[in-house]
Amino acid sequence: MSGAPDHHLSSAPPSSPGEVLALLRTGAAATRADIARITGLARSTVSQRVDALIAHGFLIEAGAEAGDSTGGRPPRRLHLRTREHVVAGVDLGASHCRVALLDIAGVQLALREDQLSIADGPSSILGHVERTLHALLDEAGLDPASLQSIGVGVPGPVEFTTGRPVDPPIMPGWHQYPIPEFFADRFGVRALVDNDVNVMALAEQRRAFPDTRYLLYIKVGTGIGCGIVADGRLHRGAQGSAGDIGHIRVGDSRQEAAPCRCGNSGCLEAVAGGAALARELSDLGLDAASSRDVVRLVKSGNRDAVRMVREAGRAVGEVLAGLVNFFNPDTVVVGGALAAVHDQLLAGVREAVYRRSHPLATHVLRIEPSRTGADAAVVGAAILAIEHALSPEQVDRVLAGASPR
Ligand SMILES: [Zn+2]
Repeated sequence: MSGAPDHHLSSAPPSSPGEVLALLRTGAAATRADIARITGLARSTVSQRVDALIAHGFLIEAGAEAGDSTGGRPPRRLHLRTREHVVAGVDLGASHCRVALLDIAGVQLALREDQLSIADGPSSILGHVERTLHALLDEAGLDPASLQSIGVGVPGPVEFTTGRPVDPPIMPGWHQYPIPEFFADRFGVRALVDNDVNVMALAEQRRAFPDTRYLLYIKVGTGIGCGIVADGRLHRGAQGSAGDIGHIRVGDSRQEAAPCRCGNSGCLEAVAGGAALARELSDLGLDAASSRDVVRLVKSGNRDAVRMVREAGRAVGEVLAGLVNFFNPDTVVVGGALAAVHDQLLAGVREAVYRRSHPLATHVLRIEPSRTGADAAVVGAAILAIEHALSPEQVDRVLAGASPR
């Protein structure tokens, strides 16, 4: 049988330089001969594409280490050029700012974390990010021109197409702030801005669970949110607010009274979020003001704290059971500050999910603690940047001489 193997998702044969790069990047092709075979392009056309990609610094071509068994000239393998092609990941939290520099293949080159309050506002925080980024590039011996794009995760809702936060509750002064324009003016590159839970979901799927295409990432911290990977891509919904599960109302009459910062009562976040648990423990006379204190008390074996976290897990599980029935993921990852005590939290989550979800939806379902941990957001933001910089459309634009990147 002849014909090209179906390595590409679109029905049209991949043919642009950007699509050729995508074949090499995903491992579908490794040499010029592979590209010709897969795409059906003439050898001379393949050479034009590959030479252009090499000239623009996307690729390098190396000789194979050993000759092949047929005694012919060994095929020269094509590799992504990683030197002087870097992206930045920026993780803005309520009280921290992490900036990482990664090469275009995803290897981390440098990272810095500072304690800052997001409530200080955009010009102060983004000014800090700008200075940090210059310092990291400097340390790595890289010119600012090596920066290809920037990914940013923020702790609030974002309209992804414009990169602007929309009424973020814990980010005063950031509503509609043009974050991408800030970076475009200073670095001449595109910045992609997303909600932090979305970039965490992306990091978890790409790095820890690459085999799954349907993943939910539940962040249980001060608040509660959910990032959704559907068919291998982030699902953001029509306005970008998909996964805002913290304000789904949960069950029993005692909990229904719990007031929520959103103005309603009985929300999941008001029952099971770290802030709510800390308040309950503090009402019992314990020293607890934040998720961190809840984690500390659980680790020290405090029975009230252990019981509350397990109950919180059950409340999360009640909501998750509905999501599992609706969305049919094969992997659910639980992260956020409270996942530091995942034995207790996940026991409650699993109990509720397996009791309430349809067997067909749960028989291959795995519910796991986060594997990317504290790096989830900064790595996920960098992955957003890499996937933009290496997307076929963007590569073709760069080769056509368009700017800015
Ligand atoms: Zn609420």
